[in-house]
Amino acid sequence: MDFQLTREQEAFRQSIRDFFRDECPPGYFDELDREAEWPFELYQKIAQHGWVALPFPEQYGGSNGGIIAMALLVEEIAYASAPMAMGWSHSAVFGGGAILTYGNDEQKERFLPRLCRGEIILCFALTEPNSGSDAASLQLAAVDDGDCFVLNGTKILISGASASDYAVTFARTDKTVAKHKGITGFIFDLKSPGVTIRTLRKMGNWPVHSCEIVFNNVRIPKENVLGGVNQGWNNMLKSLDLERIVAAGALCIGIAQRAVDDAIKYARQVSCGGRPLIEQQAVAHRLVDMQAEVDAMRTLAYRAAWMLENKIPCSKEASITKLISSEGCIRLANAAVELLGPYGYFTDWELERGYRDSRMHTIGAGTSQVQRTIIAREIGL
Ligand SMILES: Cc1cc2nc3c(=O)[nH]c(=O)nc-3n(C[C@H](O)[C@H](O)[C@H](O)COP(=O)(O)OP(=O)(O)OC[C@H]3O[C@@H](n4cnc5c(N)ncnc54)[C@H](O)[C@@H]3O)c2cc1C
Repeated sequence: MDFQLTREQEAFRQSIRDFFRDECPPGYFDELDREAEWPFELYQKIAQHGWVALPFPEQYGGSNGGIIAMALLVEEIAYASAPMAMGWSHSAVFGGGAILTYGNDEQKERFLPRLCRGEIILCFALTEPNSGSDAASLQLAAVDDGDCFVLNGTKILISGASASDYAVTFARTDKTVAKHKGITGFIFDLKSPGVTIRTLRKMGNWPVHSCEIVFNNVRIPKENVLGGVNQGWNNMLKSLDLERIVAAGALCIGIAQRAVDDAIKYARQVSCGGRPLIEQQAVAHRLVDMQAEVDAMRTLAYRAAWMLENKIPCSKEASITKLISSEGCIRLANAAVELLGPYGYFTDWELERGYRDSRMHTIGAGTSQVQRTIIAREIGL
């Protein structure tokens, strides 16, 4: 067993930290939060560093970085900014990952090089008003009409749809078979006639809008069917471990580590009874517990990432990572607010934003209850 990052991995991690330190001065992400708009320019710079391209093979302009490198990357992006990590994930892991995993060669050639260069952004539109955890019940209708499928219905809670160019979505193409057998994946242009996007109000991650997408007779050419007609469900299952380990688990560790570091920073600055808060033993012990929890979360996530990279079946480990990291990052963001009192609650300090940004992670990418159901099945309960 080897728990150490290589020199290259350490240097890679440092280069991401340096990038955010140089590009995003103090207050930058606060301002971004207030503006609640996706920072296209910053995303472009991230792409120019080759970080959007990291998961993809060289032939599409990627660097084939592997799962561990992806986990390190998203952790560091989330440490700087949870919404930036979310945007990277919905484009590179969810949308781009779907095309890489079950798209055909022509689709990969058409979309991935532009995605790698940051010229297009993708999002992933699965959830509907009446289907989320039970995704196989989706009702978005796709009817075969010559050279196109015609889509009618609604997707909801879709991250980043308003800033994206294309979405990967799933629709019902056969109502006569068992629910998971009649689903087809599609890639579609979000500016297609008949597509309406509405932004929803929410608690955190404001620069990444959560959107409703309404389809009114949207014509999707058949060359944009993703992974074969009625093959959508089985295809979707192929990317779940990656999504849970990288786009959820590692991302949450970045949020959690930031909460701990910010809590330490402010506990040094804030005085209570005439001496810095951090000098109170109870406070120091609480901070120690928080860091210990992040270390445990990180160990689980790297284990799962290592297993996936080495093609070892890891559904249980992926769900454990998602469960523990998402619940942990919320607990730690909350603990940081609690520890700093008013300095945690008011918006002049980062802790309040960290708390709001953390809260979605036991809901998105499969709720904690769903992860527990999967783990129960995996351990034979
Ligand atoms: C901020 C945010 C961003 C999101 N981004 C995206 C996105 O980009 N693309 C996308 O497609 N979706 C996205 N989602 C949707 C997300 O994946 C779903 O909300 C999630 O899967 C839950 O599904 P649901 O909304 O239908 O809730 P439900 O499934 O109705 O869940 C409601 C509650 O019931 C519980 N529950 C459901 N089934 C069971 C069960 N069998 N046993 C025990 N408890 C159960 C759930 O855990 C939850 O607590 C996002 C959600 C959020 C909050």
